[in-house]
This record gives sequence, C-alpha cells and structure tokens, in this order.
Amino acid sequence: MAHDKKFIEEMRSVLEDKKERILKELSIFESEGGEDLPSDWKSRFPSFGHSTDDHAQEVASFTDRLSLNTALEKTLKDIDKALALLEKGNYGICAHCGKDIAQARLKARPFSSSCVACKKHLKGEL
Ligand SMILES: [Zn+2]
Repeated sequence: MAHDKKFIEEMRSVLEDKKERILKELSIFESEGGEDLPSDWKSRFPSFGHSTDDHAQEVASFTDRLSLNTALEKTLKDIDKALALLEKGNYGICAHCGKDIAQARLKARPFSSSCVACKKHLKGEL
C-alpha cells in the first residue's frame, strides 16, 4: 500500500528544498576552493596566523569542511534516490520488507529507505 498523494507531494517539496540547499552549500565550497584549495584556504583565513598551533587549527577546519562536504554529497545521493522512488511511485516503502515506512519517520528523515523494524534488524546485524 502506498502513501496518499498529499503526503507524497509534501515529501517531494521537502526533498527538493533540501536538495537545493545542499547544492548551494556544495557550490559555495567549490568556489572557495578551486584546484589549489589548501593554499587558497590559507589565504582566506589569515587570522589563523603562522604558529604551529594556528596551523593545526587551520588544517583541522579544512578537514572538517571536507568531511562535511562528503556528508553533504552522501545526503544528496540519498535525496536523489528518494526522488527517483517518488517518480516510480515507490516512495516511503521499506526496501527490505516492502511495508509502508511510518510517515512520522519519513518526516524526520525524508530519505529513509527502510522501516524502523528493518533498521533495527539491520543494526543488530552489525
Ligand atoms: Zn521494513
């Protein structure tokens, strides 16, 4: 059984909104960088100074930004998957057991691909 059309449309706009925000975040990151990102990064944060501690801090924030970027890209892929399921009319259905995913769960995490029971089961296997 699929979710009602109203709910599906609501989730579509949530997903598209999220996607847009992530794309914006990623494009900001890319325009900050370019090919020689590390030196560019340094020039944009002169307040970090040149002592060893400051340098470590600077590297740490660059690494943070990179891992945030990786996380954003992963989320973007999840959103694209969810949008593809919406197109096919399979959105909100558990990929493991084929049952409807609870709407409350989808609202909290719009790109969920499994129901709570399966998620728990999968976690138990790890
Ligand atoms: Zn399931």
